[in-house]
Amino acid sequence: MSEPFSGMAGRPLPGFVDIQVNGGFGHDFTADPSSIWAVAARLPECGVTAFLPTLTSGPPDTAVRALEVLASGPPAGWRGATPIGLHVEGPMLSHHRRGTHPPEALRSPSLEYVETVLAAGAPRMVTLAPELDGAEPVVRRLVDAGCVVAIGHSDATAAEANRAFEWGISHATHLFNGMSGLGHRDPGVAAAVLDHDSVTAGLIADGVHLSPESMRLAFRLLGSERLALVTDSISAMGAGDGVHRIGSIAVEVTGVEVRNAEGRLAGSAATFDHVARTMREATGCSWEELAAMTSATPARIAGHRRHPADLVLVDDDLRVLATSVGGEIVYRGVA
Ligand code: ZN
Repeated sequence: MSEPFSGMAGRPLPGFVDIQVNGGFGHDFTADPSSIWAVAARLPECGVTAFLPTLTSGPPDTAVRALEVLASGPPAGWRGATPIGLHVEGPMLSHHRRGTHPPEALRSPSLEYVETVLAAGAPRMVTLAPELDGAEPVVRRLVDAGCVVAIGHSDATAAEANRAFEWGISHATHLFNGMSGLGHRDPGVAAAVLDHDSVTAGLIADGVHLSPESMRLAFRLLGSERLALVTDSISAMGAGDGVHRIGSIAVEVTGVEVRNAEGRLAGSAATFDHVARTMREATGCSWEELAAMTSATPARIAGHRRHPADLVLVDDDLRVLATSVGGEIVYRGVA
């Protein structure tokens, strides 16, 4: 397993798979879908060997454009993390749980919207709010087309969420964030996911979006086979502190924390190695459990078959020493 790293000290892990990357290194996929390859080229710096580029709410043309960028392949001589499809987060989301998705970009579930996107290819994952009118035929159509449909930015009751799981929703986008919470007589989406026996969940384990208690609760109830760590990274990831853009919105970045003008969390500037480290510190999980949550489980959720030589070499503090994609070392850290 450690062959590409022979002679190098460190702990080899399966390459990280991030199923929610909105951008990074100064690029935002929603503003510029053509930047997917440029960001992918740098993600191995964070140990990521495969990822789902993620679009926030926008017109169908943006998703169509991103699907075209992926279909046309990388520029000549390119090396980097493999994009494994497209994650379209929105625009069929709840106004009550929209986070920083621009309100004017949200829309009701619409088969017309879905058909426009599907004509360019099937996204790997679509996140929507299934309590909205007209959601059922949209969910069923996307599942039929081979998409993983995720509940997210949703104000559904637990009963509504459970109904949507029957339609084919199989994943929850950033568990606890952007969804109805855990009222004791008012169980919302989070309770429905934690109580379910097969729905999987993404978790923004950056230490800002969730308390350690919430991370531990998710880990205890879902386990490493049903949890995928994600960064939810925006353009500011790897670009430093200051004012950055996420889609059409300006955000202020301080460390891994990203807030909009109203002070709301707006994605993360955390790198994947940071979320892996934070989850391990919060839960005390084993290396095997961590490897599941950072690689095998997200790959399975996204239907991605990993290359056995997609690997990351880390030190005991989970700093990335080197990254191999398909057996070729594409990143080597400065020791
Ligand atoms: Zn989101």
